[in-house]
Amino acid sequence: MVLAATIRSARELVAQARSRGLSVGLVPTMGCLHEGHLALVRRARAECGFVVVSIFVNPLQFGPREDLAAYPRDLRRDLGLCEGAGADLVFSPEPAEMYSPGFRTHVEVEGLGRLLCGVTRPGHFRGVATVVAKLFNIVQPDRAYFGQKDYQQTLVLRRMAADLSFGLEIVVVPTVRHEDGLAMSSRNAYLGADERAAATVLFETLQLARELIASGERDGRRLRARLQENVEAQALARVDYVAVADPETLEPAAALSGTVLVALAVFIGRTRLIDNALISVPG
Ligand code: AMP
Repeated sequence: MVLAATIRSARELVAQARSRGLSVGLVPTMGCLHEGHLALVRRARAECGFVVVSIFVNPLQFGPREDLAAYPRDLRRDLGLCEGAGADLVFSPEPAEMYSPGFRTHVEVEGLGRLLCGVTRPGHFRGVATVVAKLFNIVQPDRAYFGQKDYQQTLVLRRMAADLSFGLEIVVVPTVRHEDGLAMSSRNAYLGADERAAATVLFETLQLARELIASGERDGRRLRARLQENVEAQALARVDYVAVADPETLEPAAALSGTVLVALAVFIGRTRLIDNALISVPG
């Protein structure tokens, strides 16, 4: 496995792999890797001849009052995990390598990026789309791997890839969870012991949504209200949003049918966690 810190060296190493006839898979991450990230790397390893993992805490996707400076970083540990999961190249640039002083160009996926997480994190998906477009241009992968945990992100990036003709396949990998259901996340490291216990309210609320739909609930607004109550019953939790939505448009779902997206963003203490489920509605 090789580490590249510059765009130029990453491009050269990918070009060498291509000249050997290998297909290229890209797994974009912000580091502090866990089993969720590694599931993406292993999937890429199984499907591609040359696997690139990018590790870059992207300043563009953090708001002014968010946790950019505090975001956990441990490149040495991450490199060992990447190697163990079968990565060939880790691309880990400094911010100045990605954003030169005159940087002025952004990618905005209209509409989709303003709903759900976009309401309290304006500019977040613009930052994500911009950095991922750059990574797609640098690596030019055949396939790029993203986690379902960030469902809205997968939708925004699929739209971007289609609209800007990137000509690659976007692969979405199921959410990897701890035993008690909490979705793995780098931000779980912020949780104190009582907060860690309280954080299972997200998964429990998704389970409640499944149960209510299975027992016949078909009213999206009523379901949403029940789920919100369930989160609010946890004293350490504060709702950012609870959404029962169309999985393509992210607009609120009124009468439930087909597949519905239940998506949550919840502050546990000061840590904002997200989770979601795609639920098939019987009948
Ligand atoms: P991040 O480092 O948080 O930007 O995440 C990098 C990639 O890993 C994104 O595509 C995430 O959706 C994905 N990811 C993060 N956590 C998980 C998880 N628990 N299960 C599956 N994928 C995940």
